[in-house]
Amino acid sequence: VHEALEKVASLLARLPGVGKRSAERMTVALARQPPLMRDLAVSLRDLDARVSLCDRCGNLTARDQNPCRLCTDSRRDDAVLCVVEDPGDIVLIERSGAFRGRYFALMGKFSPGRGEGPQNTRVESLIQRVAEGLIQEVILALNADVESDATSSFLRDALKSRPIRVTRLARGIPAGSGVAYSDSVTLAGALSARQPL
Ligand SMILES: [Zn+2]
Repeated sequence: VHEALEKVASLLARLPGVGKRSAERMTVALARQPPLMRDLAVSLRDLDARVSLCDRCGNLTARDQNPCRLCTDSRRDDAVLCVVEDPGDIVLIERSGAFRGRYFALMGKFSPGRGEGPQNTRVESLIQRVAEGLIQEVILALNADVESDATSSFLRDALKSRPIRVTRLARGIPAGSGVAYSDSVTLAGALSARQPL
């Protein structure tokens, strides 16, 4: 039993915002509520069966809908590409209603301190996407921390030779937070007041 508990706790602790201590508390809470635990197990299996990541943008999508709806919607603007760190950021920006272009999720950011660079993200695929030639502006909607800044600088240099504008969200967003912590109004403002990078 102990190993099973530890296994679940160590998996939960890998989720964003969940520390070791809260992962343990969540595990115990699940173990003492068997119906909740079973519902969660079934729901996770169901989610795994249905969800996948869009091959084109990295957004969450149904397994039978790849590329996703945001990539295939013909009413969206192909000339503007919003680059985010995580598929969750796409949901937030969509909710703000302030963006009608296409998206691209990097699936992470650089962390030079931990030896993580471009190889840990989908940068290569982003550069190919820009090389397709439709895009006129890339908006870097990354978070406001050291890793995101390193990622932004790298992308600016990598895209320098392309005939496009590279912008980033206005920094109305408090330092250390970023897209993931912004409400819709703040995000919409940061998008419309975006600045050249
Ligand atoms: Zn997509």
